[in-house]
Amino acid sequence: MHQTRRISNSLSILASPIEYLKGVGPQRGELLRTELGISTFEDLLYHYPYRYFDRTQLSKIGNIDPGADYVQMMGTLVNVVEEGQGAKQRLHATLYDETGRIELVWFKGAQWMKKSLKENERYIVFGKVGLFNGQYNIPHPEIELLNSETNIAGMQPVYPTTEKLRARGISNRSFAKLTAALFEKVKLSDIPEILPHSILAHYKLPNRAQAIKWVHFPDSEEHKQAALHRLKWEELFASQLLIARIRLQHTIQRGLRFDKVGDHFNNFFKEHLPFHLTNAQKRVLKEIRHDTATGKQMNRLLQGDVGSGKTIVAVMAMLLAMDNGYQACLMAPTEILAQQHYESVGKLLQEMQIPVAMLTGNVKGKERKEILKGLANGSIPLAVGTHALIEETVQFKNLGLAVIDEQHRFGVGQRARLWSKNEVPPHVLVMTATPIPRTLAMTLYGDLDVSVIDELPPGRQEIKTVHRHESHRSRVMEFIKAEVAKGRQAYIVYPLIEESEKMDYESLMAGYEQVKIWFPEGKYNIAMVHGRQDAALRERNMQRFVKGEAQILVATTVIEVGVNVPNATVMLVESAERFGLSQLHQLRGRVGRGGEQSYCILLTGNRLSQESAQRMKIMVSTTNGFTIAEQDLAMRGPGDLYGTRQSGVLKFKLADIVKDSAILEQTRNAAMQLINEDPGLIRPEHQALKHSLLEQSKQSNWSKIS
Ligand code: ADP
Ligand code: MG
Repeated sequence: MHQTRRISNSLSILASPIEYLKGVGPQRGELLRTELGISTFEDLLYHYPYRYFDRTQLSKIGNIDPGADYVQMMGTLVNVVEEGQGAKQRLHATLYDETGRIELVWFKGAQWMKKSLKENERYIVFGKVGLFNGQYNIPHPEIELLNSETNIAGMQPVYPTTEKLRARGISNRSFAKLTAALFEKVKLSDIPEILPHSILAHYKLPNRAQAIKWVHFPDSEEHKQAALHRLKWEELFASQLLIARIRLQHTIQRGLRFDKVGDHFNNFFKEHLPFHLTNAQKRVLKEIRHDTATGKQMNRLLQGDVGSGKTIVAVMAMLLAMDNGYQACLMAPTEILAQQHYESVGKLLQEMQIPVAMLTGNVKGKERKEILKGLANGSIPLAVGTHALIEETVQFKNLGLAVIDEQHRFGVGQRARLWSKNEVPPHVLVMTATPIPRTLAMTLYGDLDVSVIDELPPGRQEIKTVHRHESHRSRVMEFIKAEVAKGRQAYIVYPLIEESEKMDYESLMAGYEQVKIWFPEGKYNIAMVHGRQDAALRERNMQRFVKGEAQILVATTVIEVGVNVPNATVMLVESAERFGLSQLHQLRGRVGRGGEQSYCILLTGNRLSQESAQRMKIMVSTTNGFTIAEQDLAMRGPGDLYGTRQSGVLKFKLADIVKDSAILEQTRNAAMQLINEDPGLIRPEHQALKHSLLEQSKQSNWSKIS
């Protein structure tokens, strides 16, 4: 449910309770409130159509284009018949015109539909063409009786609604009646402008009232587009303004000064570095040293593909903090990842005898108490953990640096929480292996400076990726056998979306049995790890693979990140069609870590949806994480991809940061300019805007920051 942002004052007609609107009343009013969050006239004003029914665009049934997204036809309805019983019940009807006929079908609400349809009457039908038994049909069409009242000209708005509202007679299209009633009460002059006139003029945007009217009732395609453009502009501008203000705060925010490079850093660099740093790693370290020495707070995003060597950079930055008398922490989004980080940090620092603590939700009792004490009195200089590290109860003596790995699962608000750990906020280094497309970065991380590790450690070979169907399974297994015969190791990964999903768990077990048939015991050693094992067992099994005792690791995605076995050259992904692009890319990054040629095999069912086939094609065609991230964003949309749906940061009513990237770019520039000129938004012409931003930030995670 979208929260609307109210900008009218309580005296305005816009503040009127929704039940005062003609056609609403107490019962519908209550439903509008609970179902859609619409409680005032103003809320309804911002409940925009998601589509339009353009009455002028009619296809003849005989030449509808089955490839088209939606089609609209006018015809006569006949043969309305119910079929089947219970759950299988469905309703069929035929629509015909002078050129042909087509089946309409309803799987739900058949009885209710049957009552409302009239045979031999003319209807306008709108829907998506499907194919069933070689015949075109339209499942669940929108259908409207043509009578003398029907407005055949112009565009009809179609609104989001809910089942409960529909049952009360407020359907997607009858919503328009409420909006029409609204515009009888509300004059355009009642709807306030929030953008400054200079911006309206410069970017040639229609005024707000006009745009809102047009978006509900466009009188032409041109006006509809202009209205949508203006309203998207306003949405994106608001988010960019918030980001610009946070950025400004960073630049004036006092920060801890790390002005010396001391023994810890130098010692590590000279004595304990297990390899030569790549130029990219050196460059990033220089950037970090520069940032942290300025006396301003560092807010830096470190992007680097899987395997590019971010961990060592984090560790060295943490040593730098120690050299300056501060504590540092490294946070991961999951328990397993935190564990792995803890181990790799521990290994790197082993010989230097620096105490490192690990704090996650699973650390309890006496152990937890000890750690909390050590963090509070400063006897523990470095900590690794999950978001348990930033809970209220955790006090650091003097936290100087927080490194956050795999940031996209940390909300902007959580990042902000870190700042409150000290009087002067710690430096923040955010690391991600998912390269972030530019448009998304502008929205999600617009407030951060960016470093990129664009170079892999030497000696890595490009991984060969192939897509194979189930019918090729035996050849795939033979291939793995041949690799194992050369002394190499292989991962076989099964999808496990939720550790609790029984089906996935069973298919993993079935897979394990099958693998044992291909790779019989006695001749081969197979290890298995999954999230249901207790940590000790999982660890033992994992170690067998790491040490090379097991040639094959059967696993779920718990190995997705962090695991490092250079001798492993094959990554076989089972049911690869069930993984997202970024996940596949992460998995692929588990191989190709040694000097040998490595392979990623994506095994899928024989029949794939178009989208899955597309994903496999992308994986085969590139190993560039940026390209993959861009494609993933385009295919899936930002919400799913970055787990940001709940965070509210990417929640726009109309704008789409992929499709509307041109607007995004404009608003970013406009926002930066405005904040430069009037950082506190104190000028009179910016008051409406400021008020609207405040209302908006009250309702989202941004509030903690802005
Ligand atoms: P990621 O960026 O995915 O977190 P890691 O930090 O886990 O990557 O590094 C991947 C592997 O590369 C590790 O085994 C690490 O020890 C190794 N590595 C990192 N930097 C270098 C380097 N400069 N030279 C050789 N190996 C390196
Ligand atoms: Mg890593």
